[in-house]
Amino acid sequence: MMKLFLFLLVVLSAVQVQAQNKCYSAEYMARAVAGDASLKNRLEKIEAFAKHVSGSSSVNQRTQFTSQVIKIPVVFHVLYNTPDENIKPEKILDQLNALNRDFRRKNADTVNTPLAFAPIAADMEMEFQLAKSDPAGRSTDGIVRKYTPVKYWMTDDKMKFNSTYGDNAWDSRSYLNIWICNLKDELGYSVLPGSDLSIDGIVLAFSAIGGSGSSNKGRTLVHEAGHWLNLKHIWGDSYCGEDDVNDTPKQSTYTEGCPTGERRSCGNNQAGDMYMNYMDFTNDGCMNLFTKGQKQRARTLFEAGGYRNSILNTTAFNPPTIYAAPLPDFYPQWMEATIYPNPATSYLKINLEYDERWVGKEVLVFDMTGKIKLKKIITSTILQIDVNRLARGVYFIRAEKEDEKIHKKFIKL
Ligand SMILES: [Zn+2]
Repeated sequence: MMKLFLFLLVVLSAVQVQAQNKCYSAEYMARAVAGDASLKNRLEKIEAFAKHVSGSSSVNQRTQFTSQVIKIPVVFHVLYNTPDENIKPEKILDQLNALNRDFRRKNADTVNTPLAFAPIAADMEMEFQLAKSDPAGRSTDGIVRKYTPVKYWMTDDKMKFNSTYGDNAWDSRSYLNIWICNLKDELGYSVLPGSDLSIDGIVLAFSAIGGSGSSNKGRTLVHEAGHWLNLKHIWGDSYCGEDDVNDTPKQSTYTEGCPTGERRSCGNNQAGDMYMNYMDFTNDGCMNLFTKGQKQRARTLFEAGGYRNSILNTTAFNPPTIYAAPLPDFYPQWMEATIYPNPATSYLKINLEYDERWVGKEVLVFDMTGKIKLKKIITSTILQIDVNRLARGVYFIRAEKEDEKIHKKFIKL
């Protein structure tokens, strides 16, 4: 019986992993560009700048610049609907360490990089660090935690806005925003540089979070950070497509699972496909490098005039200027409407502030016999009901929305 149970558990969790696609960024950007001519224009300018900087005229400047380690300030926005989703800081730090491990090429599995690719494997010389000050100058640990009534999210950016029960981006000219939420169908997605500031950042599913304390190696974030730094998929998102990096071999398509040995496509005749590159879809345990070409492409963003140059002047690492008023965490009263005063004499208030979706729904007041005595449309998340005309006795309040029912009892004196 136990064996059967374990077997089912393994099968079910395998199904769950398969149900989430590795990365949605390419489809996301294609969709965004199709509906926005100015975005297309901005992406082309960034591309032209990348080509210009890698041209011979500015080689000296580049050589000087690439000797520095770039520090990238990070803010995580944790959007949780259940207490479990309010993940512990250790888990987030473990993920952040994994990101830095791979970006500095300190991962133990660099030994798995094929010999033919070892000379072009790169330490990206970039480090990601939690912000110390928020955009207003308040002290922060770089992690915003926010309760949301939303149970799962799609790839439509709603997690990036307060108005849709997500959390607004911090100024993306100064911070890398990473939203961790219950993303459905995908492990993650990122914008490419050039997207609107309010949506600039990376979205990760809870299931993608990993590191040394996890069964996955946290490389969804490594991959998505690559996109945030203007890196494209290694196969160029089309058959033998172009990723605009010179030292990555052309490759027919994406890789699944964990292949071994040399695999050739698109006439790439030196060492075959570079399926162990972080910008492929290979399993976490089987990818292990960025290349020097990818490093150069990513770092041109930080040159003077580059799209992410403003990150170098971030105020995120400055000592906070406001200590007195840390941002409050948005702790919910767990799916719990509260009513007061109880017993009530002339009025009763219902507090529904934890979920604005109550507005527009109906509240009913029943007596002990089940007769409806009052009916009211919810116009505000703190609703006041006049109970003057109710006779003394016990009453029940009922209300219902998509995912929740309220049953409460109160006494009228
Ligand atoms: Zn991707």
